[in-house]
Amino acid sequence: MNCGYVALIGRPNVGKSTLMNHLLGQKISITSRKPQTTRHRILGISTTDAGQAVYVDTPGMHKSEKRALSRYLNRTADMTLSGVDLVVWLIDGLAWKEYDEVIFDKLEQAGLPVILAVNKIDRIKDKDSVLAFFEDAQKRFPFRHYVPVSALKGINLDRLEHMIIEELPESEPVFPEDQITDRSMRFMAAEIIREKLTRRLGDELPYALTVEIERYEELQNITRIYAVIWVERETQKNIVIGKQGSMLKKVGTDARKDIEKLIDQKAYLQLWVKVKKGWSDSERALQSLGFNE
Ligand code: GDP
Ligand code: MG
Repeated sequence: MNCGYVALIGRPNVGKSTLMNHLLGQKISITSRKPQTTRHRILGISTTDAGQAVYVDTPGMHKSEKRALSRYLNRTADMTLSGVDLVVWLIDGLAWKEYDEVIFDKLEQAGLPVILAVNKIDRIKDKDSVLAFFEDAQKRFPFRHYVPVSALKGINLDRLEHMIIEELPESEPVFPEDQITDRSMRFMAAEIIREKLTRRLGDELPYALTVEIERYEELQNITRIYAVIWVERETQKNIVIGKQGSMLKKVGTDARKDIEKLIDQKAYLQLWVKVKKGWSDSERALQSLGFNE
C-alpha cells in the first residue's frame, strides 16, 4: 500500500477545506466564503484498497503578522510542511494572476513532491488560460503533476486522488481504516458551531469570536453539549444573540442538525455568549482558549 501525509496548502478561500471534505466523502472541515474560516490544523483520513492518504488541512498563509491570530495561522502553515510526504498546492482558478512567491519559496525549501491543482474550474470559461498557467508554473517549479479540478462540483477529483496515492511512499497505514479524523467529537462540535455562526453572521461576525465546549456528555440516547461563544465586546454579544435570541436560536438549530448527522444520535445543544476582552491580541488568552498545538 501507499500511505502518507498530504498537506493541502494555498491561500485562504481557494477551497482547501471543500476539497478535503469531498476527498473524504464527509464533512469534517468547516468551510465558508469568509477567509480564515479554518483556524485549526485538522487531519482527514481516507483509506482505500490502494492506500491511505492522511490530509492536513491548513489555515491559509498570511503575510500580515500584526495580530496574534494571524501569527498563529502562519505558524501552523509552516508546521504543516514539515512531516508530510506530499504537497497539494491549490490555486484559485478565478484569481491566479497574483503569484504566491511565499509559497514557491517555502516549497523550494521543503524539497517535497508537489501536485499543482487549479480549483473552481466549474466557473472558468477560458480553459486555455489554465493550460497556459500550468506551462508557466512548470518553468518555476518541477511539479510532479498538475490538474484542474472543482472541489465543489467534484470534477477531476478521482484523477487527483489517483495522483496523490501514486506519489505517496510505500508503507503500512498509520491509522485504522475506519478512522476519518484525528479530532475528538468535542472539537468537531465546536467547529460546527463556529461554521454556523460564520454562515449566519457573514460580515457581522466578530473577528475574535471563538467557541469553547464546556461540557460534552454522551448519554445512552442523547449527547448533551454545553458551549460558550466568546466575543470581545458587549456589542458583539448582542449581534450574536440577535433580537430576542433569534440569531442564537437559528445557529443552535443549524449546528445541532449537523452534529446529529456526525454522531448519528440525538443531540441537545446549549449555547451561551460571553465577553472576554481583547483576546485576539494576547497569546496567553489564545492559549487559555485552546489555541495551542
Ligand atoms: P479554504 O479557505 O481554502 O479552506 O476554502 P473553503 O474550502 O472554505 O472554500 C471557500 C469558498 O470557495 C467556499 O464558499 C466554497 O464553497 C468555494 N469553493 C470551493 N471550491 C469551489 C469550486 O470548485 N468551485 C466553486 N465555484 N466554488 C468553490
Ligand atoms: Mg479552510
